[in-house]
Amino acid sequence: MHTYDCVIVGSGPAGLGCAFELLASNPSASILLLDQEKVSSGGLRNDCKMNFTWPIGFPIEYWEHDLSVEYLERVEAFLNPTIIPQTNLSTYQKRAKRIGVDLLMIRQSHLGTDGGLRLIKRLIEDLSKSGVEIALEEAFVGVDRQNKRCITSKREVGYDQLVVAPGRHGFDFLRKFMRDNDIDYTDNSIDVGVRVETRIEHYPIVKDYYDPKFIFPERTRTFCTNSGAAHVVQERYTAANGQHYYSVNGHAWSNEREPNGLVNFAILRSVEFTHPLASGQDYAENLAFLAMLTGGGHPIMQRIGDFRLGKRTTTEGLNGDLNDFVPSLPSCTPGDISLAMPAKFLRSIWKALKQLDTIVPGILHPGTILYYPEIKLYANKPVFMDGYFQASADIYLIGDGAGTSRGITGAWASGMRAADGIRRKKGW
Ligand SMILES: Cc1cc2nc3c(=O)[nH]c(=O)nc-3n(C[C@H](O)[C@H](O)[C@H](O)COP(=O)(O)OP(=O)(O)OC[C@H]3O[C@@H](n4cnc5c(N)ncnc54)[C@H](O)[C@@H]3O)c2cc1C
Repeated sequence: MHTYDCVIVGSGPAGLGCAFELLASNPSASILLLDQEKVSSGGLRNDCKMNFTWPIGFPIEYWEHDLSVEYLERVEAFLNPTIIPQTNLSTYQKRAKRIGVDLLMIRQSHLGTDGGLRLIKRLIEDLSKSGVEIALEEAFVGVDRQNKRCITSKREVGYDQLVVAPGRHGFDFLRKFMRDNDIDYTDNSIDVGVRVETRIEHYPIVKDYYDPKFIFPERTRTFCTNSGAAHVVQERYTAANGQHYYSVNGHAWSNEREPNGLVNFAILRSVEFTHPLASGQDYAENLAFLAMLTGGGHPIMQRIGDFRLGKRTTTEGLNGDLNDFVPSLPSCTPGDISLAMPAKFLRSIWKALKQLDTIVPGILHPGTILYYPEIKLYANKPVFMDGYFQASADIYLIGDGAGTSRGITGAWASGMRAADGIRRKKGW
């Protein structure tokens, strides 16, 4: 059985950031990078917009300002992004300030889904050329800590250091992994919201700021805006009980593709649970099941005009007259979001949408669509042994799945930080 200096699980930005950083400190390190998919399945592949300003993507409980800035500079130096200029924002800023909303100014780049795929290909080729063994379509199943062995879907391999970065899709896997390996964790906060889709003329701010970050009262915010050739998508998740559910999301192709005139973004509200609710993940999954129930096994969509009148959107009324664009995710069921979304989330999100319409008039056009549910599970928070995300002897848990990041650049930085811990430990 072969033993590697480091086995890395997950070829998302967290795993890649770790692999490149380890190589930089020890070019002869033997590294195995595993991914259960053919190609990295997270945000590098979907839209690939990158944020280079703290705290976007950096959970503040792990990332204080100065440390984050230091890592962000290293991430930026490595990825060498083209930052998109931002213009004409002072009017929006003034309007926002007047009603208690913040418009954060974030340095961003955008590659689009096609550009992201090209980047992943190049990064994987670079790693492979530098001697990293890449094993795609091979799942990490578990670990034998006593003998320092990783069990995969194809074999067993030895590890000196193990870095696990399975992303949000690996949330449930990671929870089981932590239980099996006596790693304490908390799982008490979630983000729940809707994805908004409208014609670009109803949200023209995106011409000046690709992904505007509005922070509203009640822990509500805009998130992940896509425009150009923009589409709403659904992601399939498997819940802890084995049932499947969908969460919506969005992406855009690069500007090489023909624009479709649409824009989409999420409005999310964060909630942190206290006693006696034990698991944010279980709660969020139950919300998703309720949405699936009312949507006949699909997410729900509702036009703003219908939502305002308190009536469901129907298949017959979905298009025509004011409803003048075809939804980019037509597999969703026209329905009534208020049947499925708890009041706490619905009230904050509706209030935020009204404030947004004051800042960027037009977003509440009757034809605008709300898709539900958009759920973000970030908060499997392991109790770490050190500041490098070591959760058990020689086992590091990083990226979105472990709650150490909320975006590409944060994930990449968390990989670098784990690599820094390994480098110090090994004297590389
Ligand atoms: C549709 C979509 C669009 C997004 N758009 C953006 C964006 O534009 N900008 C942004 O900053 N963030 C975006 N995000 C969020 C972004 O994806 C994450 O913040 C980031 O990718 C997290 O990196 P990660 O390495 O932790 O996980 P991921 O990128 O999710 O990578 C985890 C990898 O681990 C693999 N894996 C999981 N379990 C196993 C296992 N048991 N064995 C082997 N491999 C496994 C998965 O296949 C996956 O490739 C988006 C997310 C989605 C889903």
